[in-house]
Amino acid sequence: MKLHAGETLVVASHNQGKVREIRELLVPFRLHVVGANELGLDEPEETEDTFVGNAVLKARAAANATHHIALADDSGLAVTALGGAPGIYSARWAGPDKDFSIGMARVERELRETGASDTSAKFVCVLALAAPHEPPLIFEGEVQGRLVFPGRGSHGFGYDPIFVPHGMSQTFGEIEPVTKHGMSHRARAFEKLVASDVFAS
Ligand code: IMP
Repeated sequence: MKLHAGETLVVASHNQGKVREIRELLVPFRLHVVGANELGLDEPEETEDTFVGNAVLKARAAANATHHIALADDSGLAVTALGGAPGIYSARWAGPDKDFSIGMARVERELRETGASDTSAKFVCVLALAAPHEPPLIFEGEVQGRLVFPGRGSHGFGYDPIFVPHGMSQTFGEIEPVTKHGMSHRARAFEKLVASDVFAS
């Protein structure tokens, strides 16, 4: 699978925060990046029970519908004291309106109910790149950190305001996007994608 400058790459996500970050990470490769929303694609139901399964499902659905190479990201927050929850259910914990203040409040409540003092958590990102009739390529990245309540900052999206990456004092919601792009789970998965030589120079 090869992607050349100018070629169309479909980002198989309806999450505008994610599409924005992926677009920013892809700038150096001069691709024509289009979001699933812009193409009017349906959002497939995430029926798998792993990040990899759901990423592949989304990438395949978009590649088959558009006949272009498609990139999907399945990601989430895994909280140690909650046994890895919300994990693949991170988006769903925000409710039907995807209101992340609801998702963050649920994480805080469930953490408090465990009585655990361990606030460690990680963000996980699995990228799947699919072309029609080819086996998908998969790349994974993680970033470790801890949770803080109340959340802080208005950058980023999702659970960013409550996540402090290891070695830092600011949350992902407080740091500049360019700094997050240098160290996030998504950035680490991207490094592997870039190293795989999929992007023709
Ligand atoms: P999905 O991969 O579309 O099922 O949803 C992933 C969900 O995980 C997002 O809606 C966010 O809630 C959360 N998430 C994934 N990546 C990030 C991130 O970089 N910052 C904050 N939240 C994230």
